[in-house]
Amino acid sequence: MELRSRNSQPDALRGRTGQHTGSVLRFLLFDLDETLYPAQTGMFDEIGQLINRYMEERVGIPPQQVLHLRRLYYERYGTTLRGLQIHHQVDPEDYLTYVHQVDLTSYIHPNPALDQALAGLPQEKAIFTNATAEHARRVVEVVGVSHHFQRIFDIRALGYFCKPLPQAYQIVLKALPAVGPECLLIDDTLRNLRAGHEAGMHTLWIGARPGPQDGTDYCATDVVRVGEVVLDLMPGQVR
Ligand SMILES: [Mg+2]
Repeated sequence: MELRSRNSQPDALRGRTGQHTGSVLRFLLFDLDETLYPAQTGMFDEIGQLINRYMEERVGIPPQQVLHLRRLYYERYGTTLRGLQIHHQVDPEDYLTYVHQVDLTSYIHPNPALDQALAGLPQEKAIFTNATAEHARRVVEVVGVSHHFQRIFDIRALGYFCKPLPQAYQIVLKALPAVGPECLLIDDTLRNLRAGHEAGMHTLWIGARPGPQDGTDYCATDVVRVGEVVLDLMPGQVR
């Protein structure tokens, strides 16, 4: 496990903090899936199978085109759903209900260490996810950290814009309300972090083999280390 900042020069690192911009770190914006619980639990495989089945059975897409279209829509629009809305006039609520019908407890478990880590951080914590609020609430309940999150910015709150579309970040910043440098974005998907960086946010990449990447200020293998990043950004803010 390692925690690294993108910039090894302390001055360069401090250049993005409130000490120089006048902004205080006020919000911790957590991605949900594979950020608040470990990646490769197998849950996404099951959700992926439900997406495939939805595209075949509900939308009527030939099976041999399903994977190609999923990749295309994900790359072009940010999520499969958005592509299905644009090209197949899919009802987003029907899709979202269908693909989230998984038994979470088969895949994810309580994380007391994360509960403790979050308890020590005074910033407001929010979920910023391309999934639904219902799915998010179920996940944080199982992980045992639901009481830390005052707000959930889900796919509906984002007006079905999704990360990494710039509109998604602007909607969240306006709703908080906040400016980019007042936020730390924590996510396992690099393209989401790069877009957050573009919006002026500090960024922490949760990755299996983290290393410096464009658009990421920090990286770690485990989200429980978020407190170290907060401490680095705002010394004295961790209780
Ligand atoms: Mg994720």
